[in-house]
Amino acid sequence: MTPDGDDSPTASGARPTILCTNDDGIHATGLQTLIAVASALGDVHVVAPDREQSATSHSLTVHRPLRATHTPEGHHVIDGTPTDCVLIGINELLASPPDFVLSGVNHGPNMGEDVLYSGTVAAAMEGTILGIPAVAISYSSRASERIPDFAGVLTDLVGRLIRRTDFPEETFFNVNLPDVPADEVKGMRVTTLGRRVYSDSLTRREDPSGRDYFWIGGGVSSWTGRDDSDFRAVQAGYVSVTPLHLDLTNYRLINEVRTWMQGG
Ligand code: MN
Repeated sequence: MTPDGDDSPTASGARPTILCTNDDGIHATGLQTLIAVASALGDVHVVAPDREQSATSHSLTVHRPLRATHTPEGHHVIDGTPTDCVLIGINELLASPPDFVLSGVNHGPNMGEDVLYSGTVAAAMEGTILGIPAVAISYSSRASERIPDFAGVLTDLVGRLIRRTDFPEETFFNVNLPDVPADEVKGMRVTTLGRRVYSDSLTRREDPSGRDYFWIGGGVSSWTGRDDSDFRAVQAGYVSVTPLHLDLTNYRLINEVRTWMQGG
């Protein structure tokens, strides 16, 4: 329900069109849940990568051609990144631009500076860059078989966001579900980005030929952050909703840096 009591699907009253994508690939459990959520809220189009593309961040495929195929359900599948999917979906595959872009539900958390590496978050960001309101959704557990249980929680949350008539410009929302059974979610908290602290997540070893190789990932991560950070909300059993802005400019420093560049 919007504040004025209008329970129509969008401000205009029309059923919205929703582009669904992800970075875990067309076969991911989380994408099936996202499609179910979006279907309850609007008309769904799916454009997703043909395989897992986690941690591809905002990369575009520019050095080879991209191909689109279709599943029996009519979903579009692209042999590229999440960003490729949103770009091609909005500009070429859909008859007209969608009203919303939803990305996820990622198999694993995207909190703190994860948002800078995540393909899930980048897909939502690409929608925002193209002028389409967007939401990225992640489940902060590797137990992806539990994601379908969150369909009700997500339908309520995403519905609140996409019904807004004042969806802010250059802003999108990063949602993380807590690692608890869906019926034990305590509620929703609006949060800031925390900071993840990795240790032992870069491995250097020697291959059978005696040459060094490096492997990024694994290890353990902890985190720090404000009391209202995404990590704290999720750890306490709440759904975390962080508004993110496209503009990374540090406005507080602008005037000071100008003084650095003066005189001589
Ligand atoms: Mn992923």
